Amino acid sequence: MEKKKPEKHVHFFKLVDSFSAAGCPFCFYVQNRMQRYFETLLYEGVNDRAFRRKFNAAGGFCKRHVGQLGSYNDGLAVAILYQPILEKAVSKGAPRPRGVAGLRGVAGTFRASRTSRGRKAAVCPACEAEAASRDAYVRVFTHFVEDDELAAAYGHSPGFCHPHYRQITASLTSVPEWLEDAQAKALSQLADGVDRLIEFSNFTGEAATNLSREDQLVWKRLIRRLYGEPE
Ligand SMILES: [Zn+2]
Ligand SMILES: [Zn+2]
Repeated sequence: MEKKKPEKHVHFFKLVDSFSAAGCPFCFYVQNRMQRYFETLLYEGVNDRAFRRKFNAAGGFCKRHVGQLGSYNDGLAVAILYQPILEKAVSKGAPRPRGVAGLRGVAGTFRASRTSRGRKAAVCPACEAEAASRDAYVRVFTHFVEDDELAAAYGHSPGFCHPHYRQITASLTSVPEWLEDAQAKALSQLADGVDRLIEFSNFTGEAATNLSREDQLVWKRLIRRLYGEPE
């Protein structure tokens, strides 16, 4: 008996859409969702009470996400969001910097890693949204992994960066051959390009002119493949 195919819905088409990105489709999807997250926040969420409660409880965003917030150059939004956090810090006296922190509370200075009762402090709301979008991507991909349309569309994409490939494959009970082959092929092409760059470069570190433009810039693809797309 033929196995019942999962019905395609809007999430499937968004997934397929992510394969047309110039880099890792997973990175592209999450970055897109986070861009929308900040746009929505700045457009209507700065005064949203539920959001503000969550934001204040977490002591604001982590360092990475406050950087992203800052990139929108919306000074008033930053001021409104951080005023209560700053006031709390002022009333408590100068906060002691916490030095290098983990994912939770990277914003260090004002973010407490634990509440006064010793419970763990709330996580950065943007990290939470990011984790939810990652989970959603993995869920839809694993749900449709046997779909031919998905496999074909993936074949036209640059493929997952290595961290995302590992995350996806860790969620699959069995990794389909087309996915494994595509990743192996991408990695070996990259390795060949790296070999050529080293081989044809002179000792001053300059790439030889007979190297293709693509090979001269292979190191950029190497970083993106191993670490994911720059944010
Ligand atoms: Zn990625
Ligand atoms: Zn964060």
